[in-house]
Amino acid sequence: MMKGVTVTFDLEAIVTQIDRVPNHRSPAASERFKRWLRTAAGCVLTIGGDRPDRYVVLDATFLMTLLRPSGPDLAHNIVVHELAHVVFARYRSNREWRDLFDTPRLAWQHRAWLNLAYPIWDEYAACRLSAWAGDYAGALFNFQNCIARDIADFPAPSRRTRRIRWDVPAAAPDFIRRVSVATKPLLTAAYLTGHLDGMGIAEGVTHFSTPARTSVLAGCFEPLRIALRTIWEDGRHWRDGKSAMEPLVSVMQEVLRIWEDETEQRQPRSKQSRKAGGRATAP
Ligand SMILES: [Zn+2]
Repeated sequence: MMKGVTVTFDLEAIVTQIDRVPNHRSPAASERFKRWLRTAAGCVLTIGGDRPDRYVVLDATFLMTLLRPSGPDLAHNIVVHELAHVVFARYRSNREWRDLFDTPRLAWQHRAWLNLAYPIWDEYAACRLSAWAGDYAGALFNFQNCIARDIADFPAPSRRTRRIRWDVPAAAPDFIRRVSVATKPLLTAAYLTGHLDGMGIAEGVTHFSTPARTSVLAGCFEPLRIALRTIWEDGRHWRDGKSAMEPLVSVMQEVLRIWEDETEQRQPRSKQSRKAGGRATAP
């Protein structure tokens, strides 16, 4: 399953190789992934179709800056976190998103929800497994900062659209972009939630993050934790990674609803009326 680990001082060399491997990504998705990889400390590359291989890539240039001469450090936590992703990536395939676009069916939107839920759970699970590795207090502090940033950005803007119908397959790219932008704070909160559950800490996101506690999303973090724990305890992700993500979908839909309300409130009145009925929320 895991083919290798690359620790590189030249991340750009890895980034430029991504187009040369048969990874079944669309060109746009490939560009997005490369942009993200340039900012990541590490990642799991999934290469191949039905039975893909995993390669862990670690940015040594960045990780070196986190090393301490003695005692636990954040680099250790990140390395264990990336290795933990390999454990949970066994049912991920690069074909899934492609299939969604190549064979659009009426049920595409629900499959898109499940695909978009998977990274949220994936980060929770990797953080839960790596919670005690390295500088766990530093990791917690880092996650608190990430949540504060994403809460401050909420509702982050998505590309403007005049789309009225969201139930047609042609809406898929806009829909996916919109949900990804809206639910970014859930992804960040999943890191902290996994870390807290891995350490056996009862208090949740709103206890450790004042911006989260005082935000319009405050009521979403406990349902998020319940959904993530349900998936963890269910164990179905070992057999079917996607349908096991069902508990997360309703939490994401609620966050999208709040994102749309907040976005509308910040728009000039003339644009509000033009957008009436244009919600991306799944039926
Ligand atoms: Zn991760």
